Amino acid sequence: MVIVGAGFGGLNAARALASAPVQITVIDRKNHHTFQPLLYQVATAGLSPGEIASPIRSILSRHKNVEVLMAEVTGFDLERRVVKTPELQIPYDYLIVAAGSSHAYFGHDDWELFAPGLKTIEDALEIRRRVLLAFELAERQAAAGRASDPVNFVVVGAGPTGVELAGTLAELSRHALAHEFRSIDTGRTHILLVEGGPRVLPAYAEDLSRSAQEQLQRLGVEVRTSAMVTKVEAGAIHIGGTHMQATVVLWAAGVAASPLGKKLDQPLDRAGRVLVQPDLSLPHHAEVFVIGDLASVKDKNGEMLPGVAPVAIQQGRFVAQLIRSEIELRSNTPPAARAAFHYWDKGSLATIGRAAAVAEFGKIHISGFIAWLAWLFVHILFLIGFRNRLLVFIQWAWSYVTYERGARLITGSTSLPGWTELRPEHSEHAEVASHEIR
Ligand SMILES: Cc1cc2nc3c(=O)[nH]c(=O)nc-3n(C[C@H](O)[C@H](O)[C@H](O)COP(=O)(O)OP(=O)(O)OC[C@H]3O[C@@H](n4cnc5c(N)ncnc54)[C@H](O)[C@@H]3O)c2cc1C
Repeated sequence: MVIVGAGFGGLNAARALASAPVQITVIDRKNHHTFQPLLYQVATAGLSPGEIASPIRSILSRHKNVEVLMAEVTGFDLERRVVKTPELQIPYDYLIVAAGSSHAYFGHDDWELFAPGLKTIEDALEIRRRVLLAFELAERQAAAGRASDPVNFVVVGAGPTGVELAGTLAELSRHALAHEFRSIDTGRTHILLVEGGPRVLPAYAEDLSRSAQEQLQRLGVEVRTSAMVTKVEAGAIHIGGTHMQATVVLWAAGVAASPLGKKLDQPLDRAGRVLVQPDLSLPHHAEVFVIGDLASVKDKNGEMLPGVAPVAIQQGRFVAQLIRSEIELRSNTPPAARAAFHYWDKGSLATIGRAAAVAEFGKIHISGFIAWLAWLFVHILFLIGFRNRLLVFIQWAWSYVTYERGARLITGSTSLPGWTELRPEHSEHAEVASHEIR
């Protein structure tokens, strides 16, 4: 059996089949599993990458029937039952494709350079680099005697990722950095959250959207709804017809299914997700399953299942159970009727900042500190590995008391798209040249 992708769906399928009489190959292009719900903490310097990601090999090391291959899957031959990578062709009897999703720039892929999205550890480190660098460049410019505008962040998209990024950027600038810069006042940082739709957190109930917006505003975030981004360029953004300077733009507006979905040669929905049968298999290929963010599945009310971790986890376990029972029957032909997948929605949680969150458990709606505690509990509980759970808990307790964000490292390039270092006017550091940094 081959599993493509060791995200929430793939890992849970592999673990649920660990003791079954089946040889499993898990293929992922990364060597680590990323706990995406905490990526924003890496992007805003609250946590380090190793605290939210673990090597796939080590997660699965106890399961002797599981082999891990780090490789990019490039295609499939469904007739010959083969998964293709540049170096290898790997045969299977059963295949689970759980390759997740990526960013969507709605046909403007050139915006990505100026407005990175948040999906991988690399993305989080790039965002962290830009955010921290913005303050350093502003400080250097001010120290050189040139007054500069306050640092200005624009976050595009007010879904859970945009909301948590904007809220945490506000805390970073108002608290964690407040007493560390001498020439700029980081408390004057402007954070704008732009949303095309009429409200923030559109997937949540209206009262929670309102509460989330109020909590954001209390943190000092400007929220602009029903506002369409029409262009992103180096150091600037166009919202509707208005052009505005932006020190850093972050993209949290669109999700598209992994391009690997197309390689299955099956009908896709508008977001590029694969249309699967109720048992999550492909039509005419009962031995191939697609799960998680890559699968297009509706619930019993005809609503599309959301791209969230619990859906991927439950689908991974469901398919594993289905395969296990077929193997135990020792039959090569699947039974005529398989059970359909049903999602058990245990509720949704979105964090906004320190002691600020919203939670929706059916008719029960909670905001503020209690919602934040629930969010904290769930996210620590589901982190992979005891070590990570302990480390993250300690980090959080520490930063709750001290407001510190300990992972404030700028690594890699020291240039920021669109940043122009201005010539010092009144400074004795006159040798500091005026030049475009990128
Ligand atoms: C910033 C962010 C915050 C989120 N917050 C939450 C949250 O708070 N709560 C929540 O429930 N959900 C959240 N989600 C959504 C959740 O993370 C996804 O729904 C979930 O990860 C989907 O699981 P998956 O297994 O389908 O895909 P993923 O977990 O994305 O895993 C896909 C795997 O496939 C691998 N892969 C992709 N293409 C290839 C290829 N060609 N070859 C080999 N390997 C490949 C990738 O490396 C990856 O390891 C968040 C997502 C993001 C990006």
